[in-house]
Amino acid sequence: MSNKDELMSAPIIDTFGRKHTYLRISLTDKCNLRCTYCMPQEDMQFMPSKWLMQADEIRALSEIFVEMGVEKIRLTGGEPLIRKDAQQIISNLGQLNTSLTLTTNAVFADQFIPTFKQAGVQSLNVSLDTLREDRFKSITKRDHFALTLAHIRLLLTEGFVVKINMVVMRGINEDEVNDFVRLTLDEPNLHVRFIEFMPFKGNQWDMSKIVSYADLLTMIGDEFDYLPIQPEANDTARRYHVNGAGGTFGIISTVTHPFCAGCNRIRLTADGKLKNCLFDTSEMDLLTPLRRGEDVRALIHQHFYKKHFAHGGHAGFTEQQAKTDYEQNRQMIAIGG
Ligand code: SAM
Ligand code: SF4
Repeated sequence: MSNKDELMSAPIIDTFGRKHTYLRISLTDKCNLRCTYCMPQEDMQFMPSKWLMQADEIRALSEIFVEMGVEKIRLTGGEPLIRKDAQQIISNLGQLNTSLTLTTNAVFADQFIPTFKQAGVQSLNVSLDTLREDRFKSITKRDHFALTLAHIRLLLTEGFVVKINMVVMRGINEDEVNDFVRLTLDEPNLHVRFIEFMPFKGNQWDMSKIVSYADLLTMIGDEFDYLPIQPEANDTARRYHVNGAGGTFGIISTVTHPFCAGCNRIRLTADGKLKNCLFDTSEMDLLTPLRRGEDVRALIHQHFYKKHFAHGGHAGFTEQQAKTDYEQNRQMIAIGG
């Protein structure tokens, strides 16, 4: 390897000394659900398919990131499992020297069990915001509640660790928080993560819909005795377990207790744009130069050198900022959560 090559392949470190080792790749901005907090109910323009990274391009970019120190890849979307070539992509990435996982709504998870196993996937994050069928339909605008639950059970039976992601919204589902905690009591491979509702383009965010970290702990403490779990490096969820429970629960409190100081995340959108933060509107196109046969490693370093310390450079989360700063960002479904 030449000196220049060695420099280019160096770990992705920003000006705050944060080393970026966790790559989240969105496979598509399309989805089989229509969650109100993720996707605008009107005027959603999906990307034309020719804009999307192809399976071989996803593999090529992933290989570059692994060479630059990425240790973990998460596939997300939109819904990653609706891509016709999802099995191919998962198998390809399973061959890399990195751990592989996915975030999915699980509607198609039953068709992927052998693929997950062959690719070495051990744990999946599954979105589920309610345990009530009527609410599921009103949040997701689709009727897939029974399938989602059945596929969570199937994943557990097949030996996968399942982390349920619940976006908690006041007046919508906060009365179910303790029902979700109860799921962790007897199932050691099931973990629940409560996520504070975050602002993105077109998702009608306002502060009154947030159920904060502090509120969640109070609600849970009213019913359960719980203990904190020692945090791991780069944890985004503050984790706990109910006394005697097999599983755990965690809180991802991006709005009220951010975890930017330990951020190690890199995001690649389905159209091949690099984002150095969920909330930063600036993007670096990697797909076009890759298609031209150019070396993209310098672009990656450059983009992370510009990474802000917190929240993509926005001062915080106010309703005014949600209308201005966060409205300039992509919709969550087009970033990849
Ligand atoms: N379709 C897959 C799923 O739902 O799991 C993957 C994509 S989804 C965008 C990834 C995660 O982002 C989900 O767990 C979802 O709950 C979360 N999410 C979407 N919009 C959000 C918002 N406004 N605030 C907090 N979390 C959000
Ligand atoms: Fe689809 Fe996931 Fe967004 Fe729901 S949260 S609309 S399942 S991408």
